Amino acid sequence: MNYTVILSIINYDCDYLFPLLKEDYLMHQTKCYAALSQNSPLIHHTISRREIGKKDVFVEIEFCGVCHTDYHYAKNDWGITKYPFVGGHEIIGVVKKLGVDVKKFNLGDRVAVGCFVNSCRACNSCHNNLEQYCANGLVKTYNDPTLDPGGYTFGGYSKSIVVDEHFVFSVPQNLDPAGAAPLLCAGITTFSPLNHWRVGQGMNVGIIGLGGLGHMAVKFASAMGANTTVFTTSEKKTIDGYRLGADNVVLSFDQSALRKKNGNFDFILDTVPIPHEVSKYMPLLKVDGTLCVVGSIGSTGELNTRPLIFGRRRIAGSLVGGMKETQKMLSFCGEKNITSDVEIIKIQTINEAYDRMRKNDVKYRFVIDMRKFSN
Ligand SMILES: [Zn+2]
Ligand SMILES: [Zn+2]
Repeated sequence: MNYTVILSIINYDCDYLFPLLKEDYLMHQTKCYAALSQNSPLIHHTISRREIGKKDVFVEIEFCGVCHTDYHYAKNDWGITKYPFVGGHEIIGVVKKLGVDVKKFNLGDRVAVGCFVNSCRACNSCHNNLEQYCANGLVKTYNDPTLDPGGYTFGGYSKSIVVDEHFVFSVPQNLDPAGAAPLLCAGITTFSPLNHWRVGQGMNVGIIGLGGLGHMAVKFASAMGANTTVFTTSEKKTIDGYRLGADNVVLSFDQSALRKKNGNFDFILDTVPIPHEVSKYMPLLKVDGTLCVVGSIGSTGELNTRPLIFGRRRIAGSLVGGMKETQKMLSFCGEKNITSDVEIIKIQTINEAYDRMRKNDVKYRFVIDMRKFSN
């Protein structure tokens, strides 16, 4: 394979990937489900992946979670999708091949791959275990430039994936592998802010939204020992809120119920993935309280500064976690036996699953059983 040609067609700063050129880059083929255009359903397809390099782990994929982001990319909702597109960044599998210099893993280990598969490893963020905020370009698990065959990354709706060991996680043996898959995006997206703001016993924590992310946030906040309140627009989800570990459930359209919670919370995590009024929750925070949003919802209208200044309150945002924090989350889940509530599907039904996900008709995450996807 001629890498000079590959580099010339990637309009991206890939200098930090040059050391990879020293590796022995052979290719192998793997079956997958791909969108061939923004108007096509996902169909059976074949992609090439690199053969393992010295520090690479070959993972045979067992389960892959289905994230809203996969759907947005498949449909080119953000105008940046390259086709064929292979989604999936909540990956659980088994190590089947190891590069000669791999130290962290053994053959047969159960492992996970999350939302990114490379970073510059040299910037301040990378040095501080915050690879998710890499200043020089994170390589996300799908649709991002790479020197790998195809020129951009392909995700976990496939039989196998090859990833540098630094970007692979160990999965505690006691965790159900299907339920563990969504921990890699929905899980870490909510664990990271709860961990960063040191949520624990004696704190009042609010979780806005009870979907794929929100249901994990409730489990985590409750397991961390916080007094946990769920805000939901759905009366039907009240019972689930309590079942998942909440101490209180408040209907977010009930203004008088909200007012009763004014000045009550140390930390509020807003998990709602669609535009909504964020500032109405600000008065619910205590002095010095923080409201953190994790949904990429764009503008939410003008910020009302009054509840911020009358209480020195903060509004913040957060992405997924870095490698160290994600491994910490998986260990925490192993100790507390926390997994996602999932509905397991076959890859052949992924298009129906996308339709149902768009209607919020899932409790609380679809996970594809890739073992049943035969070559
Ligand atoms: Zn995701
Ligand atoms: Zn970096």
